[in-house]
Amino acid sequence: MKSYVNVIGAGLAGCEAAYQLSKKGIKVNLYEVKRLQRNPVQNLNSFAELVCSNSLRSDDLKNAVGTLKEEMRQFDSLIIKAAEKNKLPAGGSLAVDRENFSNYITNLIENDPNITIINQEVEKIDTLIPTIIATGPLTTSSLQKEIQNLIGKDYFYFYDAVAPIIKKDSINMEIAFKKNRYEKGDTQDYINCPMNEEQFKKFYQELIKAEVMEGHLEKDKALKYFEGCMPIEGMAKRGYKTMLFGPLKPAGLRNLDGSPNFAVVQLRQDNAIDDLYNMVGFQTNLKWPEQKRVFQLIPGLEKAEFVRYGVMHLNNFINSPKILNHFLQMKAQENIFFAGQITGVEGYVESAATGIIAAKNLINLLENKPMIQIPTTTVIGGLINYINTTSSENFQPMKANWSIVASLPLSQAKARKEDKKQAYSNRAIEEIKKVVLSFN
Ligand SMILES: Cc1cc2nc3c(=O)[nH]c(=O)nc-3n(C[C@H](O)[C@H](O)[C@H](O)COP(=O)(O)OP(=O)(O)OC[C@H]3O[C@@H](n4cnc5c(N)ncnc54)[C@H](O)[C@@H]3O)c2cc1C
Repeated sequence: MKSYVNVIGAGLAGCEAAYQLSKKGIKVNLYEVKRLQRNPVQNLNSFAELVCSNSLRSDDLKNAVGTLKEEMRQFDSLIIKAAEKNKLPAGGSLAVDRENFSNYITNLIENDPNITIINQEVEKIDTLIPTIIATGPLTTSSLQKEIQNLIGKDYFYFYDAVAPIIKKDSINMEIAFKKNRYEKGDTQDYINCPMNEEQFKKFYQELIKAEVMEGHLEKDKALKYFEGCMPIEGMAKRGYKTMLFGPLKPAGLRNLDGSPNFAVVQLRQDNAIDDLYNMVGFQTNLKWPEQKRVFQLIPGLEKAEFVRYGVMHLNNFINSPKILNHFLQMKAQENIFFAGQITGVEGYVESAATGIIAAKNLINLLENKPMIQIPTTTVIGGLINYINTTSSENFQPMKANWSIVASLPLSQAKARKEDKKQAYSNRAIEEIKKVVLSFN
C-alpha cells in the first residue's frame, strides 16, 4: 500500500475527501493554491469557501438535496457537520455563516496529524501516486492544461455568476418586510422588497438595456452556464414575465397587511452578525455602476449600499461520461480519481458528497478491496450514475433531484406526490446505511 495519497484542492470536495481518508489512518498531502493566488471569487484564506450563496439549500428530507445531506451524515460528513455547527436561521434551508463555516473546517484539517497542507499550485499530476483531483470549477489554467493532457480533448467550459451583497442597514424597512415564503419555519428570515406592476415594468425595462461586462455570455454562443445560476439580466431577456416565475416570484409573499404583490425580490441573511444580505437569484454580469443604478430601482433598495457586486466567471468540468467510472476513478488511470464540481455535479452539497465517495473508493483500492458502486436508489448514487451514463455529447452539470434516482416500485407509483417523495427519501436512507456498512 502507498504510504500517502495526494488530494488536490482544499475546497468542499477536497476537504471532505481528505477528512474521510484521514479517518482511515491514510496520510494525505492536501495541495491548495489560494494562499498564494486567489481566484476572482475567493475572499478568504481558509478552506472550503462558499463563494456565492451562503445556503446549502433545503434540509427537508422530501427534497432530494435534503436527503442527500442525510446520506452524507451517515458517512459522518465533515461539510455537513461544519454547516450544522455554524448554521444561520433560514426557514427550511441549511444556511451558514460562511467565515465560521470555513474556519471550522480549516482548523480541523490543519490540526489533523494525517493531513499535510501544501500551499502550492499543482501543475503536473503524478499518475503513480493515488490522487483525488478536486480543483473545482475554477481550476487554475496550468492544471486545466495538464488535465486536458491526461483525459484527452473532451473538456468543457462555461460561465457562472455571483449575486450582489447589500448592507442590511441600507435597506428601507418601511417598504421592505421580513417574511419566509408561505411563512415556513418559526422565524421570519428573508427580507422582501415588493413591487407593483408599474415598478416592475420600469425595473425590467432598465434591466434589459443595462450595460454588461466585456466578453459577456451572449457574445459567444458556444459558452455554457448553469441554468440554475443564470444571470438575472439573461433571465429578463427571455421575456417580460420570466423573472416572475423565477427569483421575483410573488407566490406566498403577500404584504404584512395581506395584500398581494406583482413581484417580490428576496434578500437572504449572509453572515452571523446579521448585517449583510444577498440578493437571492441576482447573479449578474452587469457593469458595477449599472448594478447600483438598476438594483436601486427596487423598492426598499433605493439607498442600498453594495459591499460586493455580482460578477461572472469561467467554470470548468470534465466530460465524466467518457472519463470516469462508477467509482469516480479515471477509466484509463486507476490511481486518479476526480471529485467535486469538476466531475459535472453541480452545487456545494453535491460537490462535497462526491468527495466522500471518491475517498471511500480510493481507500478500498489502497486496501485491495473491491470498490463499491453506489445504488441509484440513493441520491448520491443517482448523481454518480448521471455523470457516468448521460450522453457525452450533451453532458451538462446536474444538481440533486428525484428524477435521477431509480423509480419507486410499481406498488408505490400511484401514491400522492408528497408521499412518494417521502418514500424515495426513506428508501435512499435505508440503502445508504447498507453502503456505509459495506465500506467499513
Ligand atoms: C462563481 C461561482 C458561484 C457558485 N455559486 C454556487 C452557489 O451559490 N451554490 C452552490 O451550491 N454552488 C455554487 N457554485 C458551484 C459549486 O458548488 C462551487 O463552486 C463549489 O465550491 C464546488 O466545490 P469543489 O470542492 O468542487 O470546488 P472548490 O470549492 O472551488 O474547491 C477547489 C479548490 O481547489 C483549489 N485549486 C484550484 N486549482 C488548483 C491547483 N492547480 N492547485 C492547487 N489547488 C487548486 C481552489 O483554490 C479551491 O480552493 C458556484 C460556483 C462558482 C464558480
